[in-house]
Amino acid sequence: MSSLSVVDAELPGPGRDDLVLRLTAQVAELEALSRFTVEGIADRAERVAAEAEGPALTEVRLRAQLVVADMVRCQGDHAEAGRIAQEVRRWATEQQRPFLRARSAYVLAAIFQELGDSATALEHAVEAVDLLDDGAAPELRIDHSLRLADTLGQHGDTSASLRYADVLALTHELGDAHRELVVLNNWAYIETLLGRFEEALPIAQELESRSTEFGEALGVGRLDTLGRVLIGLGRLEDAEEVLLPGLAPERLESSTDGDAGADFLLTLAEVRRRLGRLTQARQVLDDCVARCDRHGLTAIRVRARQEQAELHAAFGDHRTAFTEHKLFHEQLMELQSAQRDARARAIQAMYETGEARRQSRRYRELSLRDPLTGLYNRRHIDEQLTRLLGPGSLPAASVSIALADLDHFKRINDTLGHDVGDAVLRRVAVLLQSAVPADGARALGGSFAARMGGEEFLLVLVDTSPEHAAALAEDLRSTIAGHPWGAITGDLPVTASIGVAGVTGSADQTPAALLGRADALLYRAKAQGRDRVVTDGG
Ligand code: GH3
Ligand code: MG
Ligand code: MG
Repeated sequence: MSSLSVVDAELPGPGRDDLVLRLTAQVAELEALSRFTVEGIADRAERVAAEAEGPALTEVRLRAQLVVADMVRCQGDHAEAGRIAQEVRRWATEQQRPFLRARSAYVLAAIFQELGDSATALEHAVEAVDLLDDGAAPELRIDHSLRLADTLGQHGDTSASLRYADVLALTHELGDAHRELVVLNNWAYIETLLGRFEEALPIAQELESRSTEFGEALGVGRLDTLGRVLIGLGRLEDAEEVLLPGLAPERLESSTDGDAGADFLLTLAEVRRRLGRLTQARQVLDDCVARCDRHGLTAIRVRARQEQAELHAAFGDHRTAFTEHKLFHEQLMELQSAQRDARARAIQAMYETGEARRQSRRYRELSLRDPLTGLYNRRHIDEQLTRLLGPGSLPAASVSIALADLDHFKRINDTLGHDVGDAVLRRVAVLLQSAVPADGARALGGSFAARMGGEEFLLVLVDTSPEHAAALAEDLRSTIAGHPWGAITGDLPVTASIGVAGVTGSADQTPAALLGRADALLYRAKAQGRDRVVTDGG
């Protein structure tokens, strides 16, 4: 997959390639499966995420985490799902990984859809389709396009129909029966939502006949879709006939959270009431209410109350009907405000973590800087040298350091005052920063300038040979000596002594040993008369 090519560029090693390939294959399988309710997907994705350690596997790990997020969403925890998806999206945007951005947008679209924010859902769904390139798995192209069609439809846009037709063609091409049925169901459902029952009918019929062909009995959710199309067309008898098989206990119990079953019973109750079969209607409605209470299905329970009111009225019990109706309204208001709260909380949770992360990154960045000069500080030096030289580090072609100490700096402080001393240090910092070799706008290989402490500075030069480093140090020395210091120090010159040490290739060297060598060379430069560069060679 093209979006993973970067993985190959990082840290390959014996056995490592196998691991990358295995985990990549596993996460791809889980991504394709996550469209369906399959036992154990979240657990498997968690395991892949746990195994995918290290920078070479970051993208695989985040893909697995997105699968987990999508499952968390299905369980109704939109805040947690959104938090994960936003975090992955942020990383993918920073690191320019279009595939991962497309996947996080895909999950976010569903979250906002369920939170009732169809405009934001649509934005994400468009991104999820746009960023998926032609090399992506066809299953995912179908899933992303289907989500776009769904969000368009929920947004009230009739162009959803064209989208569904395209997605349906993709499922035919791939010969993916499961996805074909999902597309037909969603399409028919959205058409009824848009009030286009005539358009919905052939699609619903196609859903019925194709599922017979595939030998896959329609679940209660899909029967419900079919029933609603017929109700919309005023064909109540047909609707009841279509719905009846759903009363079989094995079908009714098939969805784990029970909401499809409850929805289905509510639709059947409405059909029977409108057909005048009031006692039968009451039976299924009581079942529906019991199911809502058992599974804690608040939203369907509220709608069931409305149906109860209608049913009481149909029985001629207008007093009870009125009481139920009032209750229905009250609870609908409560539900809507609870949903608004939940939505606000979920959205806040998503963005709070973004803000917290930005803050902590800022604090971390600050903790690595020297406040007087703005250069990196000793802590950063230690971290970076450990990264470059420490065990398990990437073998850079070479790392050199130039340790610079200002000459007779005490004299500047003593003669002109501490503030002037500070001004000199700040100016030297600017000169030092310009000495960092750059490759375009970026410091070469992660090279940087830092302040060791006091009037001691360090250049860390990555992918720079000791010879090249010596030349750079000599440039720096002459730049400092030749700088027009008069405005700051009057007659007092400012010069520096510099020790340059380096390691090449596989040479085994600890950060402390390298710094020790540079310090010894610096000491020699002082002893030899200051304002000079001394390297390993002499
Ligand atoms: P040498 O050529 O041998 O390095 O002589 P030197 O005077 O530079 O050496 P020494 O290490 O004795 O003096 C360093 C002085 O730098 C002492 C200290 O007061 C001063 N110093 C350290 N940090 C700061 C700072 O942040 N601001 C100012 N103004 N002075 C500082
Ligand atoms: Mg000193
Ligand atoms: Mg000094």
